[in-house]
Amino acid sequence: MICVQCGHQIDSLFVQYSPGNIRLIKCDKCKAIADDYIECEFMILFIDLILHKHKAYRHLLYNCPNLYSQGLFWKSGILYLLLDTSRRIKGELGFSPWVLFHVFFGNLMFISLLLVATKTFLNSSSKTTSYKDVFQAILVSSYLYIFLLPMMVWKFPYSVLFIVDIIVLSSNAVAFKVVTESTMTRCIWTCFSAHVLKFWASRMREFPLLGAFY
Ligand SMILES: [Zn+2]
Repeated sequence: MICVQCGHQIDSLFVQYSPGNIRLIKCDKCKAIADDYIECEFMILFIDLILHKHKAYRHLLYNCPNLYSQGLFWKSGILYLLLDTSRRIKGELGFSPWVLFHVFFGNLMFISLLLVATKTFLNSSSKTTSYKDVFQAILVSSYLYIFLLPMMVWKFPYSVLFIVDIIVLSSNAVAFKVVTESTMTRCIWTCFSAHVLKFWASRMREFPLLGAFY
């Protein structure tokens, strides 16, 4: 567990005296309450996520171990792919067998670039980010894809998809800044490159030179 204010590692976030009676622990390094989200409503956390506050991402990525049980982790991954598929269907106004292939191939390229960039470009000698941290950062920071669910039922302008993609991209960059402790500029360029590669890989068939593959 870590202090959401400064990222310093701590042993526990609170002391429990009796059921419902807890005292939040202060960080040794910055002397602030280590994680005040423990006593906050979920809506406050959600607003801070939308505002791209680093401490909200630190809380979700490091101080909520129950979120990352083996079962929930895989379910989140499958939900992510389903929502991405629905987004692609919505963009193309129809379903075809190629859509599934494009979604899987696009995401494979997306994750591969992020993993390689994290190990070679973002991590410093003092910080090593595990593969699991990278997957968690992607899943947590893509929470806005949940708004694609109502878009499967109701009609929205295509520009809404674009806005969702832009916010997910910036959220990805903040989450990578938190898990790698690299500079914000590097995280933005890495996530931007990964999204461009995903866009290109999931639309290879539409590029004349690459049409021969199909
Ligand atoms: Zn601190």
